[in-house]
Amino acid sequence: MLSKPDWTSQPTHDYSSEAFETLTEFHIGIDDTDSKLGGCTTYTAALIFEKLLARKITPSDFPWIVRLNPNIPWKTRGNGALAIHLRIGRDRVKEVKRLVVDTVKNTSSPTIPATDPAAVFLEGEIPVEVKTFTARALHDVIRVSETEGLIDSAGAVRWTLRGRRGIIGALAAIGYGPSMDHTFEIIAYRTRRFLGTRRQVDLDSVRRMDRKHSDSTFNNLDPETGRVLVCPHGPDPVLLGIRGDDPRRLLEAFQELEIHEPIERVMIFRTNHGTDAHLTFERSIGEASPYQSVIFTGRVKSHPASLRGGHVFFRFQDETGSIDCAVYKPTGPLRSVALQLIPGDKVRIMGGVRPGPYASATLNLEKLEVIELVENVRFAKPPCSVCGASCESMGRGQGFRCRKCRLRFPRAMIIKLLVRRELRRGLYLPPPRAHRHLTKPISRYVTSRVRTGVVGQENDSLEALFVESGRLSSLRDMTDMLSKL
Ligand code: ATP
Repeated sequence: MLSKPDWTSQPTHDYSSEAFETLTEFHIGIDDTDSKLGGCTTYTAALIFEKLLARKITPSDFPWIVRLNPNIPWKTRGNGALAIHLRIGRDRVKEVKRLVVDTVKNTSSPTIPATDPAAVFLEGEIPVEVKTFTARALHDVIRVSETEGLIDSAGAVRWTLRGRRGIIGALAAIGYGPSMDHTFEIIAYRTRRFLGTRRQVDLDSVRRMDRKHSDSTFNNLDPETGRVLVCPHGPDPVLLGIRGDDPRRLLEAFQELEIHEPIERVMIFRTNHGTDAHLTFERSIGEASPYQSVIFTGRVKSHPASLRGGHVFFRFQDETGSIDCAVYKPTGPLRSVALQLIPGDKVRIMGGVRPGPYASATLNLEKLEVIELVENVRFAKPPCSVCGASCESMGRGQGFRCRKCRLRFPRAMIIKLLVRRELRRGLYLPPPRAHRHLTKPISRYVTSRVRTGVVGQENDSLEALFVESGRLSSLRDMTDMLSKL
């Protein structure tokens, strides 16, 4: 096991400086520095953040990971973009831009197709139009030309290395702020030598950490399978990430893990992970289009059926149209919930619209809320009042006769049976192993700062923690200094 970093070491920055008088807000958005073959935009942002601190440039917040519409087909993994918010003297703007551009260039692989590294710089207060753009980028498909128009009208500046698509995420990242529901993630990064190898994290130590910190962290494990979820798979530099509502508890939780490979650096990010920020727009089926993240309220139209591969499908309708709803196998128990629906049930379905064949569309279900259950009525032939056997019809309007004892019941009619519904009203989610980054876990329905879709007033204290080449320093001093301004 590695020796622990010196957690108590002093910050390398002098936050008592008086040079904060003529400061301007300066916002940096970055996206698309990674590819399926490696890299990670969070890593680029962590490097930039540390370099800024080393130059005594003061961030006004944690760096942000902002996840955007998870149904965009050209995303690499989780459609994440990054933002860094600063207060700097105008004379340093040029220097910061150069630092960002150089770091993005050094950490991206633009020769790999579909990697379009981009940065957007915005000086001054974030205009409301940019915040609205962010909300749309969480739900819709945005065009590059529209983004360019907004960058120009907001007085922002863009930089791209290859294609222009990365500017969408880079601008959208800037518009998500602490007044919206958010969480934190502590991420540890691997050293270059270990990239692509199995992550050497003691799984039992993750389970112990989860037991101790389950009140303030989420999705460390999948409770159904016991699978550890903090380590990603693949060649990217992330060794592990722990998610939760309190950055101090995340740091504590991280320190309790047993890690058997060197850690290059650690960063705490503020983020919209676990907030359902992509599921706040209620739409009608008639106005929805492919790749949107949506909420529809309506009624089940057809009996759900489990098809080959274990996926469940049913038809769903509202007053503007109908759509197929797919509940895929990885969503586990959510499929059994869907299978218990019957036509007429009123439900709210949440997920991503996918184009289907013949201009039809399918909603890939992420969450399901049962609002109202209809009676499950079955019709049956009446039983014989003597022997109890099922009767047969003697023809339309002519009653029934017993097959066994041949007794006739000319006035008997088909009987109506009410089948007990096991399903209950309420919200149903897939297990954590099938969550998207943005999926709000059940635990956060109690702790989240803001109810889904409602912007709150919460103003967290400004604090960031980071590790620079294995040496952890606290930015608590910066917090104190900033709160005095
Ligand atoms: P990772 O999660 O590993 O960081 P990723 O999944 O974020 O990777 P990117 O490489 O960032 O994938 O690619 C996503 C691309 O989609 C970016 O170019 C981004 O600008 C663009 N994009 C993001 N949101 C939208 C949107 N709502 N509409 C159109 N394009 C978008």
